[in-house]
Amino acid sequence: MTDALPELPQLDSPRRRVPPTGAKRPWQTGTVTEVRQETPHAKTFRVQLEQWQPHLPGQNYLVRLTAPDGYRAQRSYSVASPPEDPGVVELTVDRLPDGEVSGYLHEHVAVGDPLEVRGPFGGWFVWRGDRPALLVGGGSGLVPLVCVLRSRAARLVAGRDSAPVHLVAAARTREELFYSGELTGAFADLTTAVLSREDDDASGRPAGRLRADDLLPAADRLGALRASGGPGADVFLCGSTPFTTAAEQLLVEVGVPAESIRVERFGPS
Ligand SMILES: Cc1cc2nc3c(=O)[nH]c(=O)nc-3n(C[C@H](O)[C@H](O)[C@H](O)COP(=O)(O)OP(=O)(O)OC[C@H]3O[C@@H](n4cnc5c(N)ncnc54)[C@H](O)[C@@H]3O)c2cc1C
Repeated sequence: MTDALPELPQLDSPRRRVPPTGAKRPWQTGTVTEVRQETPHAKTFRVQLEQWQPHLPGQNYLVRLTAPDGYRAQRSYSVASPPEDPGVVELTVDRLPDGEVSGYLHEHVAVGDPLEVRGPFGGWFVWRGDRPALLVGGGSGLVPLVCVLRSRAARLVAGRDSAPVHLVAAARTREELFYSGELTGAFADLTTAVLSREDDDASGRPAGRLRADDLLPAADRLGALRASGGPGADVFLCGSTPFTTAAEQLLVEVGVPAESIRVERFGPS
């Protein structure tokens, strides 16, 4: 990539085939209206969209960068903001060492800039609000999961029914925990924080990787365990390949039926 800002996009032809869902999702140019530093390596970009359409928690957008010589790069980013926040999407991007798109977004994209996006996409790793959900995420894997918490909170405020959820949120340290303020504030009752490199002063949990006892209480309460005998909960697991592989194995070991676990992997396999 060069250092130039992405060129303005060409909107797809109106003759473009409508996808099976019936929704048109052309490339569009949003405007970045806010940039927030979430952790030392992650920024949230709030993007205003003229052709916004409601998304489901768990869905993602494509972001496309175009260099002056026509070279293009695109990557998927989950939506962090709830669909109840209309007209915008918030994308939280973890900056990877030598990351082409994440590095560019972090270094060059600021408030007022155009950003070319397309979405929302994803029809399987989505929470529709009607089933209990155990959410398990690490690092940037928390992005689609915080959308679930935010959407559920907005639904409750609006007096709409919403199934119970719980988030098991992993990070190396409190400083690196995505949305730490919200997860230890407004969503504290719905969150179990798992810090692998730091004792957690708030909960008293000693430093260490995800363990069975981080998952079991919420899994049991939500009916996610085969042995719980309840109506059952869906499990949404998201993060890097090593994290999701280890967590999926642990979930099955504690008694979560493998078929109820939906996994979204962000990194290389
Ligand atoms: C459905 C979906 C949703 C996603 N949502 C988010 C999100 O909300 N926030 C977010 O930050 N990312 C998310 N990602 C990952 C994102 O699409 C990019 O893969 C990531 O930003 C890296 O792109 P890059 O161009 O910066 O790195 P690249 O230039 O593509 O890669 C740089 C180096 O990092 C490695 N790498 C690539 N991706 C990852 C990764 N995720 N973890 C560890 N190493 C990696 C590559 O192998 C390479 O060595 C999502 C991915 C998918 C498929």
